[in-house]
Order: sequence, then C-alpha cells, then structure tokens
Amino acid sequence: MKRFKKAYIEITNSCNLNCSFCPKTTREKKFLEVDEYKKIINEIQPYVNFLYLHLMGEPLLHQNLDEILKVSYDNSMKINITTNGTLIKNKLDDIINNKCVRKVSFSLHSFEANDNTNFDNYIDDIINASKILSSNDITVVLKLWNLDSTNNDVLDKEGLNNLNDNIISKLISSLSKKYNEENILKVYDELLKRNTCEINKHIYLQTGEKFEWPVNTKDKTFDKIFCYGLLDQFGVLSNGDVVPCCLDNNGEIKLGNIFNESFKDILEKEETKIFIKNMKDNIPPCALCKKCSYARKKV
Ligand code: SF4
Ligand code: SF4
Repeated sequence: MKRFKKAYIEITNSCNLNCSFCPKTTREKKFLEVDEYKKIINEIQPYVNFLYLHLMGEPLLHQNLDEILKVSYDNSMKINITTNGTLIKNKLDDIINNKCVRKVSFSLHSFEANDNTNFDNYIDDIINASKILSSNDITVVLKLWNLDSTNNDVLDKEGLNNLNDNIISKLISSLSKKYNEENILKVYDELLKRNTCEINKHIYLQTGEKFEWPVNTKDKTFDKIFCYGLLDQFGVLSNGDVVPCCLDNNGEIKLGNIFNESFKDILEKEETKIFIKNMKDNIPPCALCKKCSYARKKV
C-alpha cells in the first residue's frame, strides 16, 4: 500500500480553451520536458498509486503526450486523463497504444463555458472516442459539472448549462444500449440519486455542482475543513513546485520544488508535517484552505 492514492502532475499549464468558470493561473506558461516528467516519476513512483496529468491546463495539448505515457507505462504508473475533449481525435492512438491509461474523463461542461459554435463536431468526436476507449477497456466518464442546487430543477436550466438535455439525449442515443429516448427519465433518476449513471459498459455519465475555486471564493472563511490534501493526494506544477491538491491554481501552497529537492525531503520538512497535522485535525493549514468550498462542504 503506497502512502498516496493519487497525484496531479501538471504536464502543462496551457490550455486551448477559455472557460468562464476557470480561474486560470498567473504562473508562467510551461510544458514539462519529457526528462522533467521522468525525474518527477522517479521521485514519486514509490509513494503514489495513480496519476492525473493535469492541475491547470489541457493535458492533450502536450505534443509529447505519447512519450509521457510511455514513461508512465515503463514505470508501472496508472494514468487518469481529464480533458476538455477538444483534441481527443488526434490523441486517441497515443492513449490506446500506451497501456497505462485506466480512465479518461471528458469535462463536457467546458463546451458551453466557451464561445464555441461547432457543437456537433465536438460531441461527435467525444462519442466516437468514448466508443473506442471503452472497447479498449478504458473507463470513460462524461462529466457535466455545471448544476446549481440553488435551483430546484434536477438539471437546472440557469446559467451555462442550457445544453445539458441536448448533450444527454445525444450521448444516450449514440452510446447506450440500456437507455433510449423512451426510458431516458431513468437516466435522470439515476443522476438525481447518485450523480452518476452507467450508460454502457465502461461509460458513465456524471453530473455535479458548478465548481467554485478557492482563489475565487469571496464569502466568509471557515475555521473547520475536511480535505485529503497531502493525506491521500498532492500535485506537482509544471515548474516542479509541489502543492497539496489540484485546486492550488497559482501555487500558493508551495511545499518545495521537486527539481531542486527530493520528494522524500519535501515530505520530511517541518512545515509539511505541520500542514498534515492541521489537515488531520480539520484545521485549515493556510489562507487558501480557509476559504476552500470543496473542503468546507465535507466537514
Ligand atoms: S477549466 Fe480546464 S478546459 Fe477550461 S480553460 Fe481552464 S484549464 Fe482550460
Ligand atoms: S482545503 Fe482546498 S485548497 Fe486546501 S489543500 Fe484542500 S483542496 Fe487544496
């Protein structure tokens, strides 16, 4: 059993979209060199079970994704990819041929959060990719994290989620054997109960609340939180800075730099230990954590 369940390795902090809900980053734009990725993997491999290839940024934008996945495979690292899906068509072979990817999640809520006009092309690429990935035993998660529970409707029609019904209908008719237009209400029922619905083997539709990044939270701060940051997860930014989670978009909670120090040394630092102790005691270890809506919800 390794110490951490997952890590977020930001192979790039660049993105080809401009989602309205995205806080972006003030950090310099950077793509990890393959050698830098190798160095990170060598450091963290003994500590972590599987990796995501994002923190900020769109991982499929990386022109050396193929090599990055090869390095992952050679080091027995299991990979989850979360993507806005716009570039999936050209990266499918890389994902399938390197046998290390276990899950691909498509953030479909990104479509409506951009001034994008080619809906049919976008959704058709996602549908085609979902078929190919799932037939290669890779789990596909089709995410619509754009709900607003302040509205009573199950898939509320306010804000940037006007296309949800349209998207769900298209996904069901193209990807599902179990569901169709006749029984589509059962899908909505599942989403209401569990926020997830298996629409075909290895293919899941998932809904979730609109996300509020801690950097954007303007309301009051909280004295008690619950979070797995540095308990079962951590992140490495594209400049090598180690952070406790995937929500530190600007690298405010820098614990060390993996290009200059060993990961082991970073974990053994006094400030890292204090951070972990506070997390275990539900005390926000820093200003960003104090206003983190993700951590606040679970107390
Ligand atoms: S949320 Fe993701 S897809 Fe959207 S702009 Fe930010 S990094 Fe890009
Ligand atoms: S409380 Fe929020 S900002 Fe702090 S480590 Fe957890 S997820 Fe990250």
